[in-house]
Amino acid sequence: MHKRDVERFGKCDICLEIIPIENYFRIGDEITCHECSTECTILSKDQVKLTMIEASDDPDDYSGEMKFE
Ligand SMILES: [Zn+2]
Repeated sequence: MHKRDVERFGKCDICLEIIPIENYFRIGDEITCHECSTECTILSKDQVKLTMIEASDDPDDYSGEMKFE
């Protein structure tokens, strides 16, 4: 008896919409909530965990590396 691929679901941080995680998604992949278009990164698939992708143009990104001369 073959183990069937279990359908997995994540939950959007913003609108709490259920986001289906297709089998071809892997950890680290980005997935977009179809309700509010929030982009999340898959942290774990075994028990689905998603984390919101912070805006990359946030100046706080340069934590500790910012030096003025
Ligand atoms: Zn959402």
